[in-house]
Amino acid sequence: MALKKEVIARLQGIVGEDRCKTSIAERYVYAFDGGIHREVPDVVVQPITTQEVAQIVKLANEYKFPVVPRGAGTALCGHSVPIDKGVVVDLQRMKKIKEICVEDLICVVEPGVVCDHLNAALKKYKFFIPGPASSEAATLGGMVACNASGDKALKYGATRDVVLGLEVVLPTGDIARCGARSVKGSSGYQFEKFFVGSEGTLGIVTEITLKLVPLATYRAGCVAAFGKIREAGQTVSDIIAVPILPSNLELMSATCIKAVNKATGLGLPEVDAILLIEVDGNNLEAVREELAKVTEVCKKNNAVSMDFTEDPKRLEELWKGRKQMIPSLSALRKEYATVMLADDMSVPISKVPEAVVRFQEVSDRYDIEIPAYGHAGDGNLHTKVLMDPTNPDHWRQADKAVQEIYDIVLELGGTVSGEHGIGITKTPYFRQERASLIAAMKAVKRALDPNNIMNPHKIQEWENGFVTHLRYPVEVSQ
Ligand SMILES: Cc1cc2nc3c(=O)[nH]c(=O)nc-3n(C[C@H](O)[C@H](O)[C@H](O)COP(=O)(O)OP(=O)(O)OC[C@H]3O[C@@H](n4cnc5c(N)ncnc54)[C@H](O)[C@@H]3O)c2cc1C
Repeated sequence: MALKKEVIARLQGIVGEDRCKTSIAERYVYAFDGGIHREVPDVVVQPITTQEVAQIVKLANEYKFPVVPRGAGTALCGHSVPIDKGVVVDLQRMKKIKEICVEDLICVVEPGVVCDHLNAALKKYKFFIPGPASSEAATLGGMVACNASGDKALKYGATRDVVLGLEVVLPTGDIARCGARSVKGSSGYQFEKFFVGSEGTLGIVTEITLKLVPLATYRAGCVAAFGKIREAGQTVSDIIAVPILPSNLELMSATCIKAVNKATGLGLPEVDAILLIEVDGNNLEAVREELAKVTEVCKKNNAVSMDFTEDPKRLEELWKGRKQMIPSLSALRKEYATVMLADDMSVPISKVPEAVVRFQEVSDRYDIEIPAYGHAGDGNLHTKVLMDPTNPDHWRQADKAVQEIYDIVLELGGTVSGEHGIGITKTPYFRQERASLIAAMKAVKRALDPNNIMNPHKIQEWENGFVTHLRYPVEVSQ
């Protein structure tokens, strides 16, 4: 649907002509996120105040056009792709760190603040906010909307765990404040948590109050290599059972190791699987003791080599290499791309060994590469499909393989998304997983958003498969 001239004029009246983008070149870059879908919006607006956001949403209700909030556009499942066109609300210009109050253990930020920028500001106070691997670009608004988390979630939690309060422009255009500045809260329905993970379908977050997490003084790490991926998986659940909560516990399978070595020259051992393990704390002896216990578990599970380090530079290098996983996989075979399918399932920790072995079997059966890696310490695994996205047969193969992978995840008691969220790409499996709740979710959406203007057709609302609105030049008949 194209927006009427009078609507565009009203939008320009709210944000000014400079921050209302109507040319095709300016709108085209908002047609994608990091996933597989594409749709060009009619208009892009860039508000700088909550009042402007509220006026845009009120106008959307008056003229019934879709409104799609957007941060950095790094989500991986078409979350901010405007599937029904309409107006993309780019929140990156609302980027003030309003307050850091270490005495209250909080900070207050606008939604467009980038995670790494906030952490750079918090570092001098010895605090941080745990973020995703995309922290150098991801905004706090996007992190809240996706309940993003990353390698530190096992020990330090996901975004939901650190959200204390939100200001939200509701789908009606009304402004609501949820939660409080206090670290504890138990007053009635906790909407500040409820909006986390709603992927821009229930409102636009315009201010976020976060609980600060202390930075540990000492870190020590180990790269443990295994001849069999099952042994690496078993090590993960054995470490947790000790009990030890490492600050990072990442698994990489053979293809991923090869890809990262090729792209970054990290020189990781090229075996069936490795674990990157880091423990941290404020007492060096205790940190070393913990790493020694981790070593025992790795040995018990037949680790073929272990490479230890306390050097912060080497640790940073290792984690930087790990963060390069997606581009590294893309560069591995020049005829294939890394396609964001089955990208972040989570299974019970004890099921990690079985899951990685069964994913490998699916990969072999369909003769397409589906390498596994991930934050195995909290059961959160990543697979990516390496394929030629211009080949319709590859899409048909992937469609079947991805369904089998999610059947395994659900059979093991897991969930289709551990951190990235649902967007469009994962809706078929999300609807399978949450079948008994879909009607309730739709009722909530209708109650808060009677005109269905807020990021429509996402999460439970998309009723078709993922092979839709593809960004690639390909026609896929099913
Ligand atoms: C290389 C790479 C690595 C990644 N690693 C991780 C990872 O380790 N962990 C992880 O969790 N994710 C990861 N992601 C996914 C993504 O980066 C995160 O989900 C991130 O939090 C999205 O932030 P964003 O600002 O880019 O949001 P966007 O992509 O712009 O938006 C995401 C969703 O949030 C909504 N939204 C954005 N801002 C607001 C707002 N102010 N109010 C309401 N809704 C809003 C949008 O409508 C959309 O539905 C990765 C992505 C890439 C490309």
